[in-house]
Amino acid sequence: MDKLVSLAKRRGFVFQSSEIYGGLGSVWDYGPLGVELKRNLKERWWRAMVHEREDIEGLDAAILMHPKVWEASGHVAGFTDPLVDCKQCKNRFRADDPRLKGTPGDPETKCPVCGNKGTLTAPRMFNLMFKTFMGPVEEDAAVIYLRPETAQGIYVNYLNVLQSSRQKVPFGIAQIGKAFRNEITPGNFTFRTREFEQMEMQFFVKPGADQQWFEFWKAERMKWYQGLGIRAERLRFHQHAPDELAHYARDAYDIQYEFPFGWQEFEGIHNRTDFDLTRHQEHSGKKLEYVDAAVNERYIPYIIETSAGADRAALVLLVDAYREEQIEGEQRVVLKLHPSIAPLKAAVFPLVNKDGMPELARRIFDDLRGRFNVFYDDGGSIGRRYRRQDEAGTPFGITVDGQSTQDQTVTVRDRDTLLQERVAAGRVGEYLAERIAP
Ligand code: ATP
Repeated sequence: MDKLVSLAKRRGFVFQSSEIYGGLGSVWDYGPLGVELKRNLKERWWRAMVHEREDIEGLDAAILMHPKVWEASGHVAGFTDPLVDCKQCKNRFRADDPRLKGTPGDPETKCPVCGNKGTLTAPRMFNLMFKTFMGPVEEDAAVIYLRPETAQGIYVNYLNVLQSSRQKVPFGIAQIGKAFRNEITPGNFTFRTREFEQMEMQFFVKPGADQQWFEFWKAERMKWYQGLGIRAERLRFHQHAPDELAHYARDAYDIQYEFPFGWQEFEGIHNRTDFDLTRHQEHSGKKLEYVDAAVNERYIPYIIETSAGADRAALVLLVDAYREEQIEGEQRVVLKLHPSIAPLKAAVFPLVNKDGMPELARRIFDDLRGRFNVFYDDGGSIGRRYRRQDEAGTPFGITVDGQSTQDQTVTVRDRDTLLQERVAAGRVGEYLAERIAP
């Protein structure tokens, strides 16, 4: 993991937030390559979940919502974790932190960081929502929250979307957006952060059809990740046991990835029943029933949710792609990212900076630039330039050599197989397009 973190910084995938001030705990910034990776991931999600489906609409709800939303959702009362503080070293732990041995609050229990006995407080509840004030007066009546999940923006807009899009149940609403949680023990790089992005889809179904749709979305979402090139043996489902299930859920599965720090969730598929819409109906006083005019029926739809973290999924892609390989006695670090996800699609190299090679290489680069995110590199030996692109996960290297200026062909090197093919300079765009499409 340390190697990946250092590569991510060195190559401009991820930087610590406010680094020059010593950093801000568990908040991260995406650099030039990282932002491309995450955008590609989100675009593929949006295409699969919205554009390719007639029965799903998109939404972009605001981060700030009426404070009553969070009372109805249960977040004000229930979105809490029990916390333990060390009075000596001031560190904070979740009460279920595996490093804690013994009962916090007990005089014999040691702090896992400073090792002092009896310095831990008994567990106290701590709300994970970030609070701020709306308007000029900092008073209780002005308290507002940064949303801890994007889902509620979908629930409160469900009727608006239904009516404006003329969808019929079963149908879904998809959204990508920021969420904030004042996590107590964040860490593992971008795995658990305080500000993150979610890609959520809420699918509204008739009660009774929920289990069938739950199974459908479970299978679809796993297939989608495999389609991104993630190794199948590192992916699995984890079903929530009855004591893990959220209060609103009838059934829940996590999609887990085998990270260097163990199997961990990066997407949840939940059968949320009619809990959310019923609660919003009660708290808002507005009827949220679906009316099926064809059969003259009214009901509150059940909701099947697919809730993924864009940052966590991006981390899965990076971890899964990272390889160290021996090639002809030399070690290379390579990110074997799926071409559709890779930040740069190709790099263009003149073999040497003379004999017309830079001019032709530049022309090819300018041609490709309009269609793909490509990179031009004329610095250092060709081997070095290939290695730099391997580390960035760039799937294709296009080299203009002595032959190119004679017959207008270039070599295209494949990052994974290392095979080189000669391709007509005028066909390079087409060649890339065929191989980048998911
Ligand atoms: P965890 O148990 O890891 O805190 P959760 O069960 O609370 O996660 P959900 O509320 O189901 O997570 O959120 C759905 C998805 O949002 C998660 O699968 C994850 O990808 C992402 N997510 C949740 N919390 C964070 C966080 N603090 N940092 C980054 N991503 C997160």
